[in-house]
Amino acid sequence: MNEIPEVSNSDWGMDENRIGGESVLPPVYTDEELRQLDPAALMGHCQTLQQLCMQLDGDCKFLSWELKESSEILLRFARVTQIAHYLNASDLESIANLAINELPQYLNCQFAAFYLFNPTASTFELNRASHPIPEGEMVRRDSDTGGFLYRFFTCNDEPYIIERTDDGYVVNSGSDDAPEVRVEDPVWRELLGETAIVFPLSISRSEEAQLRLGGLILGNSLVRLSDRDAEVSHMFVDLLSSSLYNAQLVRQLNQMATTDVLTRLYNRRQFLVELDKALAQTQRNPHPLSLAVLDIDHFKIFNDTHGHHCGDLVLREMGSILSESLRKNVDVPARYGGEEFTIIMPYTMLDQAVAVAERIRIEVENRSVVYGESRLSVTCSLGVAEYRPGDTASSLIDRADTALYHAKNSGRNRVSSIADDLPAGKLA
Ligand code: GH3
Ligand code: MG
Ligand code: MG
Repeated sequence: MNEIPEVSNSDWGMDENRIGGESVLPPVYTDEELRQLDPAALMGHCQTLQQLCMQLDGDCKFLSWELKESSEILLRFARVTQIAHYLNASDLESIANLAINELPQYLNCQFAAFYLFNPTASTFELNRASHPIPEGEMVRRDSDTGGFLYRFFTCNDEPYIIERTDDGYVVNSGSDDAPEVRVEDPVWRELLGETAIVFPLSISRSEEAQLRLGGLILGNSLVRLSDRDAEVSHMFVDLLSSSLYNAQLVRQLNQMATTDVLTRLYNRRQFLVELDKALAQTQRNPHPLSLAVLDIDHFKIFNDTHGHHCGDLVLREMGSILSESLRKNVDVPARYGGEEFTIIMPYTMLDQAVAVAERIRIEVENRSVVYGESRLSVTCSLGVAEYRPGDTASSLIDRADTALYHAKNSGRNRVSSIADDLPAGKLA
């Protein structure tokens, strides 16, 4: 007969007291001893073994429940780690995507609305939503519909779980001074559902100052949100807020690197990037592309006469004219430097580009800036060139600049596209 290993209950990690201590396991008998054993004793041992089996069965069930719990916790942890990894993103697009698509899944919520704070208007503006909240719905302090959210977004930096009861909505987590929830509007009630969670997004600049960044509301949760959800949500609030702050800083830095402060147009560096892009596009998928360069006439004399500050006002006005009179998101105006500007015009042939340049020239001539008692205006000259196969950025700039040189030589305040047989201009 096989030897039965000597095991005690404690080897199985069981509580010995529950089944009567060490003497519970029947002794190990030899075959001879077994044959001579009193049937009553044998029956007693059988009963003990049966009891032990039942005990083992119970313990197994408990262990498998514990295992299931642990694996759920592990799964949640893996998901949180994944979300935290995404949250490292420093662009608004990824953050909004996470707020609208990933976090609701994690918290079993069906709807989400992500808001960004507008410090100038002191409102929270809807950035993205997975629920048909009316377009342009803003969360203002005095708003009839979304007003309750304003109070949550500005209350403090804790997430709040909101639940529907027979008497309306109540807040069941967050600090004691949580705002009252009064939601009459059916659209909002639909978004909140039975359970919702509100994330105010802000970061502390100093002891007192809180920098508002935005807010997120996840609504219509399929399950009642638990304390564990509230705890994890605290972490999401922190991560989401600092990512949002970083994204804003990156955006500001990017804007500073690409935009001219005075005219709000692209600067020379970004113009060159945009021109390369436009050239690559027309080379990949041939279509007309034109470039204009604009230079203010006799601007040195203007500055000398009226002062640099007045000259700056004219340059700023120039920025407005170019932004207003070109096709949005198609043509790309830029300040090349000093009183020189460029305009990239995709899908535009030479004669069309000359017409655009002429329109701008007339607008500049007619526009005046008010400076003290005076109304002052300037004129400008423009050179236009169309892309030819084989052109590089600098050969195209050269031709437009040569045309500008021609416009200047022909008396200024005019547009030219004559770019051959003239020396290379000063822009290249
Ligand atoms: P032209 O008609 O030949 O273009 O003559 P111009 O006087 O405009 O050309 P020039 O290149 O001799 O002078 C350009 C002037 O533009 C010199 C400078 O005073 C002025 N300028 C360049 N950048 C700025 C700026 O940022 N602010 C102001 N106010 N003036 C600027
Ligand atoms: Mg110049
Ligand atoms: Mg000039």
